[in-house]
Amino acid sequence: MIPRPTQRLLLATLYDAFAQWAGTFTFACGKGCATCCTRSVTMTSLEGDEIIAFLAEAGRLSELAAPAFQPTANRMAQCTTNAFVAAHLRGESVEEAENWDLRPCPFLKEESCSIYPARPFGCRLFASLDPCAASGVADMPPGYLAGATALLQYIEHLDNNGCWGTMVELLAGLNTETENCGEPTAPIPGFLIAPDERALVEPLLQGLLAQEVNGQTFAQWLQISRS
Ligand code: SF4
Repeated sequence: MIPRPTQRLLLATLYDAFAQWAGTFTFACGKGCATCCTRSVTMTSLEGDEIIAFLAEAGRLSELAAPAFQPTANRMAQCTTNAFVAAHLRGESVEEAENWDLRPCPFLKEESCSIYPARPFGCRLFASLDPCAASGVADMPPGYLAGATALLQYIEHLDNNGCWGTMVELLAGLNTETENCGEPTAPIPGFLIAPDERALVEPLLQGLLAQEVNGQTFAQWLQISRS
């Protein structure tokens, strides 16, 4: 298993590569736009540790003891990204969770994210070409979601022996060191990238896979993570 500090460096590298790629699009999103900021954002325990480190450094760890972060009896998120992709590749249908909690994220303060530098990838990929506050439906460019989903898969793959769930539930579990606070993470089973999306997505993936982190390429770390 890759040591946590190296996993965190790989996560930061992935965040940077995605920010550069996403910066080539012109989105309508901006500060104060918080339609996507609900309690249903999902993430891995690797991203959770990043948030906990950020809160600890800012002297804000006590926020996780607030009622908003109490674990719920019925876990909402049930299928990790890689489990979802694996089921699709096997031709199986995947049941979507029906009880997503669309109340505001507890980190949303005065319409801004109070953990912005440490927000998980699920928040970073939120984007729409048109203002979506009225409809609640994001308009994403062709191929954008395929690229973002591939990176969600990389993060889950790197978080070997980790867990996955909604940000709120996972942070509640990680903060109280509760075992089995999410679904176990799974390795990459393949990707759901359509042929006509490849030209847009490949530069993102190939550029990231070639980046060096602690003497190995990102691609080599992916191999090491599950070997
Ligand atoms: S962590 Fe920040 S960006 Fe993500 S949903 Fe919460 S307020 Fe929004």
